[in-house]
Amino acid sequence: MKLNYLKVSALVLTTLMVLATSCSKDDVDNEAAQEVSSLPRDVLNKVRELDLNPEAFEVKHAVYPDGTKIPVVLTDDIAMEKSRFLKIPSDNNGLAKQYQTEFLIDTDVHEEVNIIVYTGPTIFDGDTPIVTGLSEAAQQGVRDAVENWNSVWGSRLVLRAEFTTATTFDPDFFETFIVVNSSLEGFGGFADFPDENGNPGNFVQISPNSSTFADRVPDAIEHLITHELGHAIGFRHTDWNSRQSCVDLGLEPEPSVEENPPARIFGTLPSIPGIIEQEDSIMNACFNADTTTGELNFFDENGLRSLYRGF
Ligand SMILES: [Zn+2]
Repeated sequence: MKLNYLKVSALVLTTLMVLATSCSKDDVDNEAAQEVSSLPRDVLNKVRELDLNPEAFEVKHAVYPDGTKIPVVLTDDIAMEKSRFLKIPSDNNGLAKQYQTEFLIDTDVHEEVNIIVYTGPTIFDGDTPIVTGLSEAAQQGVRDAVENWNSVWGSRLVLRAEFTTATTFDPDFFETFIVVNSSLEGFGGFADFPDENGNPGNFVQISPNSSTFADRVPDAIEHLITHELGHAIGFRHTDWNSRQSCVDLGLEPEPSVEENPPARIFGTLPSIPGIIEQEDSIMNACFNADTTTGELNFFDENGLRSLYRGF
């Protein structure tokens, strides 16, 4: 898959490395072509209506421990419920590549954002695993990720992680639900972003490998979950217009070109390919699992302060 979720380069994860790099250009193109033709007609029509590139989109399912499967439309590692996607007005550029999402969390309503983390057993649909609880090491990654965002001085946003084996959830209480989605491959995940009512993204879904290998690469799982929570609270990719981080890591052959005007977050650097790049931003499209510290950089912190100023 070319664009499905956060890409990771990792020497220590040899098998994952192979997965990430085994696609030749032709393979990728073939996969992309299949993705285009495999988009449901209603999604394809909407993508075209919004004047977006169908190759950048795919449809997967977000899953919940009660067995619920919700179709979502993905671009990069950002997912939107299909029903919401189909309602986007044609003059809306909310899916344009941006540094911040169209909507942010209303912190008057959400004084604390509850992050519900599923830690229970695998739930099956017949013989097919659907959803699994996070490993101990991945749970630590969540704690570290929450701490990353909460420790930014001058931000009013407060995240609170709660760990549960319960397979049901109260829709009036849960805000962002983190699970292992059994259908995802490689090391990565995807996330929802805030909605028009000021609610945080409803889900973060990580792959089984991310959870399994978390104890071998604790900084990488911290990075992955910090990144996905970043989407759930309103960040887009720092290198939105080039995916330069993926090129630098050899995961993609050349920079992508995106020209939709971005909504840049005040106090952060613009992304100007070849001139201004932030190799260590947590919100880059790709990262190196071997070298990441899993921490926010200065401009990630500045960005959070700008989105959720606390004074
Ligand atoms: Zn992302």
